[in-house]
Amino acid sequence: MTTLTTTETVLSVDHLRKIYNEGTEQANMAIDDVSFEVNKGEFVCIVGPSGAGKTTLLRCISGLAAPSAGTVTFEGQRLTNVPDQLGLVFQDYSRSLYPWYTNGRNVALPLAARGMPKAERAVRVSEALASVGLGHVEKKYPWELSGGMQQRVAIARALSYRPELLLMDEPFASVDAQTRFDLEDLILKVRRELGITLVLVTHDIDEAIYLSDRIVVLSKNPSVVKEVVDVPLGEHRSQVETRSSDQFLALRSHLLSLVMPHGA
Ligand code: ADP
Repeated sequence: MTTLTTTETVLSVDHLRKIYNEGTEQANMAIDDVSFEVNKGEFVCIVGPSGAGKTTLLRCISGLAAPSAGTVTFEGQRLTNVPDQLGLVFQDYSRSLYPWYTNGRNVALPLAARGMPKAERAVRVSEALASVGLGHVEKKYPWELSGGMQQRVAIARALSYRPELLLMDEPFASVDAQTRFDLEDLILKVRRELGITLVLVTHDIDEAIYLSDRIVVLSKNPSVVKEVVDVPLGEHRSQVETRSSDQFLALRSHLLSLVMPHGA
């Protein structure tokens, strides 16, 4: 009998290993052996202790760095460079936006790079900024906005070309706690509205539980996957109720025991 699968794998990481400065005296194995899959429409967070290789993993997943062994497959193709259908958002929004361009122009940059005609670009820019609640800042400059708003512009830029997969590296680490909660809810809203697939790296376990469908827990460096934890908290999440629910707290202690096995 044939088994029918309804899930479509967008990203597949298979026995990935990454050694920096391989073959030299400075060789440093950041990732030993990491495998996991991300299905279409899923939100997967990657957590692990500092130095575990989270950023390295994201760089390999995005095609910015080549693995030393193993493979990354995106939409059925083995990854060798940064695919067009991939969006990237990094922690440091202040360095990712060009201060001499308006916010609208910043959002338009990847569209122009993809050769989109000007009229279509204008529509997409307005749509992308509106989707992050910033329709009114198109003609302003990044430096006229707060840090949280600048990160929303960076998210709008990544969304403007409607990527299949959005990769985020500690995207909310440089903003205050209230703004962080707002941005978490914004990304959940965007995900619901656009049906996008997301992979987010964070060192914050609570954030990972709040956002994810599944969490990939990495060991300390050189990393392996300690466990992939399911987060069955449903689609609608609320900062107050979800975070204080028994299910959330149980997941939290389980994840803490994985990340800090000796109760540090
Ligand atoms: P995390 O994001 O989990 O904090 P990183 O991926 O930044 O971890 O780093 C994992 C390991 O790889 C660390 O030992 C770090 O020193 C090393 N590393 C990261 N980037 C480089 C690099 N460009 N060259 C050499 N070693 C690196």
